[in-house]
Amino acid sequence: MGDIVIVGGGAGGLELAVKLGRYFKKSDTNVLLVDKNRTHIWKPLLHEVAAGSLDADIDCLDYLALSQKNGFQFQLGEVTGLERATKTLKLAAMVSDSGETILPAREIVYGKLVFALGSVTNDFGTPGVKEHCIFLDSAGSAQRFHVQLLNEFLKLQSDSSKSKLDIAIVGAGATGVELAAELYKTAELLKAYGYQNVSSAKLKVTVIEAGPRLLPALPERIAQKVAHELRQLGVSLMLNTAVSEASKNGLQTRQGDFIPADMSVWAAGIKAPEFLFALDGLETNRINQLVVDRTLQTSNDANIFAIGDCAHCIMPDDTKVPPRAQSAHQMASCLFDNIKRLHTGQQAKAYQYVDYGSLVSLSSYSTIGSLMGSLSKGSVFIEGKLARMVYISLYRMHQMVVYGKLKTLFFMLVNRINKRLRPTLKLH
Ligand SMILES: Cc1cc2nc3c(=O)[nH]c(=O)nc-3n(C[C@H](O)[C@H](O)[C@H](O)COP(=O)(O)OP(=O)(O)OC[C@H]3O[C@@H](n4cnc5c(N)ncnc54)[C@H](O)[C@@H]3O)c2cc1C
Repeated sequence: MGDIVIVGGGAGGLELAVKLGRYFKKSDTNVLLVDKNRTHIWKPLLHEVAAGSLDADIDCLDYLALSQKNGFQFQLGEVTGLERATKTLKLAAMVSDSGETILPAREIVYGKLVFALGSVTNDFGTPGVKEHCIFLDSAGSAQRFHVQLLNEFLKLQSDSSKSKLDIAIVGAGATGVELAAELYKTAELLKAYGYQNVSSAKLKVTVIEAGPRLLPALPERIAQKVAHELRQLGVSLMLNTAVSEASKNGLQTRQGDFIPADMSVWAAGIKAPEFLFALDGLETNRINQLVVDRTLQTSNDANIFAIGDCAHCIMPDDTKVPPRAQSAHQMASCLFDNIKRLHTGQQAKAYQYVDYGSLVSLSSYSTIGSLMGSLSKGSVFIEGKLARMVYISLYRMHQMVVYGKLKTLFFMLVNRINKRLRPTLKLH
């Protein structure tokens, strides 16, 4: 079968690498994971990293250490190209911040190739967004946001002429609304750490959404409840408002208004990385996602697979699998089975997306959502502690695949201990 190469060690790719690594450990099939970062952090936690309620350096895990324990190999590098005729993957040269070439451009030959490289923020070509808005699509950008946020709060604390901090968030999907709530928590906690001039009353978060309501992908009832909770916190919600341009001092709307902002966050959509578009003849959609069959094989190359946010997969009822952590997790499980099947000469099976529900965490203020499908035989609205437990369980499932049950229990214990030992907020 040749070597299996997985590009991207995120919610889907890392789970697949661990499972395949363990499965093929004693065989002559090598499993290689390639990622442009040295460490992995579960992406749905990024808004917490941005607000400071989570320290990415503590919660991240090291690919190299994981690879040794789970029977796969790891190569650090950014994939930039593909030659299907020779089954060759191309990696860019690795260059340090000072311009020194650490590793030259490289090539990797694969037998089977899995793209699991997630998505990046889609600014839909809106002028000024790249230059003036922060994207929350990587650990690096979330950490940069956090430092900038602390600096803005420091200005608010020290500069008596500054009466408030304006933060504008474009996009009222889960990322936007969860971040808005986390920011109020940060302001509250900073006051407890001695920032006497900082309070949630001095924070003005505006969430701007082009559509008529929050959380367009979730049920109306959840959206209404979340809108109510956010308004209680002090968040301004601007619905039916499209941003036409971003500048240093704020956002211009298509309706002609200007929204002043000390910091602007763009969380209004996703796309697969640009280089995937028509990559060596592979079929892609208008947001660069690789078109895959139900077996998760790309439509015109059976040796290349795609899972997670970078895959365009249509279910029999014509719905598209949404770009969510639960989709990436399910696709990784299905592809693990399919690669085993293909290895033993069996037919690959069809992937079926199962929606287990949607939950939105508004920091420690509230968690709201619904459980779906086989878990509840329909759709059941939940909130409060139960909702929080279900919300966290998706992350625990990811940890269990990667670490196993016992280690996950230890991590949960360490988390509890850290809550007592460490500051509640990351202050640097
Ligand atoms: C703030 C935030 C909150 C979210 N909350 C939720 C939630 O509550 N529930 C939910 O279901 N979903 C949530 N999501 C969406 C969820 O995180 C994604 O759907 C999920 O992570 C997709 O998994 P993936 O494996 O496709 O990609 P990712 O987890 O994004 O992993 C992609 C990996 O590929 C690597 N990579 C990218 N490009 C390259 C390259 N060229 N070469 C090498 N490596 C590369 C990256 O470093 C990364 O490790 C949230 C997303 C964000 C940003």
